[in-house]
Amino acid sequence: MTKLRIALVGAAGRMGQAIASVAASENAEIVAKSDLGDRITSADADVLIDFSSAAATEAVCDAAVKSSAALVIGTTGHSAKEKQAIETAAQKIPVVFASNFSIGVNALFSLTEQAAKILGENFDLEILETHHRLKKDAPSGTAKTLAEILQRARNAEKLRHGREGMIGEREKSEIGIHSVRGGDVVGDHTVIFAGQGERVELTHRASSRETFARGALRAAQWVIGKSPGLYDMHDVLGL
Ligand code: NAD
Repeated sequence: MTKLRIALVGAAGRMGQAIASVAASENAEIVAKSDLGDRITSADADVLIDFSSAAATEAVCDAAVKSSAALVIGTTGHSAKEKQAIETAAQKIPVVFASNFSIGVNALFSLTEQAAKILGENFDLEILETHHRLKKDAPSGTAKTLAEILQRARNAEKLRHGREGMIGEREKSEIGIHSVRGGDVVGDHTVIFAGQGERVELTHRASSRETFARGALRAAQWVIGKSPGLYDMHDVLGL
């Protein structure tokens, strides 16, 4: 099998370094690296992998489209305009955009959908996420994906980001989302289904960034040669 040629954006960051450290064992080589202040280039790479900041997304999309490289985006915290740039790029090149590249979290996504359907309207829904103190966006992209899954399963529930003061009783239709920040936590997510006299909690805990890095490289191998379009880990894993 020929080696996958990767251009890495956010190369100096935690995820950039995790990808560089596992690339060789996944039959991939990094042929270009860029970080804050550098011109983003995909050189002659097959695929551009981005784990940087949402502010870089438009430049990342431009670089990939210009060189007809495939694109894998792991960055989170995008505005509507930045998301639109990803959708526009996906009309010209194949793009995998996933809030979480771990297989375990993608299993959590499926289990969450199933549990919401089984448990029904009488269970209150809350999402709790914990990350290291240096994380910049909140709630996490994964927590947002979990909220979207619950909203779809329960027909457009309202999101409540934290609670404070005399806010009154919990509304039946709301989904609470809470972000905890501290230390070096790689990423924990819990979905709580709280009913009368019982509670179901689904939890995923990541203990190493390697799981995201290997998932992103798997997505990069998968996306080469695909038709232009916007894909996610569901597509990559064939779920
Ligand atoms: P980090 O802060 O350690 O690294 C980000 C790197 O990007 C830094 O080196 C920074 O200098 C660089 N950068 C910032 N702005 C840039 C720009 N405009 N152009 C080029 N480089 C730029 O962060 P991290 O923990 O590696 O996470 C990076 C992103 O990936 C975050 O959005 C995070 O939420 C996301 N993430 C996603 C997954 C996933 O599975 N999808 C997993 C972990 C982290």
